[in-house]
Amino acid sequence: MPSSSDAPAAIIVGAGLAGLAAARELAAHGQTCLVLEASDGIGGRARTDVVDGFLLDRGFQVLLTAYPEARRVLDFATLELRTFDPGSLVFLEKVASSATSRTSSPAKLHLLADPWRMKDRMAEIAFSSALPMGDKLRIRTLRERLQATNVEEILAAPEHTTAERLATLGFSPAAIQQFFGPFYRGIFLERELATSSRMLEFVFKMFSEGDAALPARGTGAMASQLAAQIAPGAIHLNTPVQHVEPSGVRLADGTILTAPSVIVAADQPHAARLLGDAAHYGGPTGQLQRATTCLYFATSQAPLLDRMLVLNGSGTGLVNNMCVVSQIQPTYSPAGQHLISVSLVGVSAQDEAALAATVLEELCGWFGEGVRDWRYLRSYVIPFCLPDQSPEAGGVAARDPRLAKGLYICGDYCDTASINGALLSGRRAAEAVLADLP
Ligand SMILES: Cc1cc2nc3c(=O)[nH]c(=O)nc-3n(C[C@H](O)[C@H](O)[C@H](O)COP(=O)(O)OP(=O)(O)OC[C@H]3O[C@@H](n4cnc5c(N)ncnc54)[C@H](O)[C@@H]3O)c2cc1C
Repeated sequence: MPSSSDAPAAIIVGAGLAGLAAARELAAHGQTCLVLEASDGIGGRARTDVVDGFLLDRGFQVLLTAYPEARRVLDFATLELRTFDPGSLVFLEKVASSATSRTSSPAKLHLLADPWRMKDRMAEIAFSSALPMGDKLRIRTLRERLQATNVEEILAAPEHTTAERLATLGFSPAAIQQFFGPFYRGIFLERELATSSRMLEFVFKMFSEGDAALPARGTGAMASQLAAQIAPGAIHLNTPVQHVEPSGVRLADGTILTAPSVIVAADQPHAARLLGDAAHYGGPTGQLQRATTCLYFATSQAPLLDRMLVLNGSGTGLVNNMCVVSQIQPTYSPAGQHLISVSLVGVSAQDEAALAATVLEELCGWFGEGVRDWRYLRSYVIPFCLPDQSPEAGGVAARDPRLAKGLYICGDYCDTASINGALLSGRRAAEAVLADLP
């Protein structure tokens, strides 16, 4: 820890993507900083563990290659991204015949994809019964409109809930149950689709203009790449900050560190506590919880060959979405093994073993009895995944990083709650610090 005589230009509280993006921007302008991280690693909500040779992201998540800020600050080539195919498979319990996916078992999965980006499966997509034709045309219209709209315009549009917006756009109840519901629940990690329509449109635009991707060394590799651009020794782990003010911070052990600028890059609940303003930074009381449980399984035989996310469009069951991660990014599993990721929205009341058994039982209905041979690896229960960005809680907007003279904020709650929003908010905070330097 530096002494007060060699104080950095800024202290950054939190080494998630926002804090690291801020540190990277300061370093790029020749400014020193000190990054204080409460946990034992960098990356915040985007971390990866290695378990038995498998890469397990702490909750399934994807980097969208169209994210403008990610394109600006991350080196995609070094991340060695592998992409999903542009589409989804939908499990529809009620349709027992005409399996349309290339599965190794009698699954009831239906392909929903962009026919122009998957020309080899164009006929299959056109005739898939997962969506009524009118909805397929509405998706195309929405796609064309959003491709002609820039992100700033999307973030300035009137806000409604995602559920309201989908209804206004004319999508049928079948389209919402079978596709938009599971797709956006898996992204917003809340069941009601109460998240702002700005997020609906931002995410839709990103998916239609690029690919969903996974880095070769897991999503945690994004943080490692940013950290490599900061002065060695600038990041201090296991260093929780207890109190912040414009001139410095107090650590849990009572140490006081000072700097001309302090950037609070903690997640929203911790930022609210540090700044003593829960109403402003924590959203209104009674806000919806954005929580997920992600279970990982290993198998020597992949249940499907598709490089796609599988959505539960049946309207029943615990599973929201799953995929064979190793089909998309083979580095996630040791040779000869496959990694399966299964996501639920919310936190189950069942204990870990019972939940894994329930999920396997449910997936037997998707892929057949071979599922019983899957080996349970680990699960992650994540009670806070995303800030509440429903219109009721204030919606989505680019937040001014300046809180007071010498005090700044960043984090995904200051922009679109995403990897992109975290990175962008971090850069904005650093730019404000740089602009305010004497
Ligand atoms: C399960 C899951 C799935 C997701 N899926 C996607 C996806 O597919 N695509 C996408 O774009 N986004 C996704 N996201 C969102 C994305 O991961 C986050 O928006 C982003 O990582 C947030 O970064 P951040 O830096 O703002 O916050 P965080 O990553 O939360 O970082 C904040 C850091 O501050 C630290 N901290 C907190 N308090 C203190 C303190 N007092 N002192 C010191 N340090 C402190 C924390 O330990 C943490 O490391 C997902 C998130 C989750 C959890």
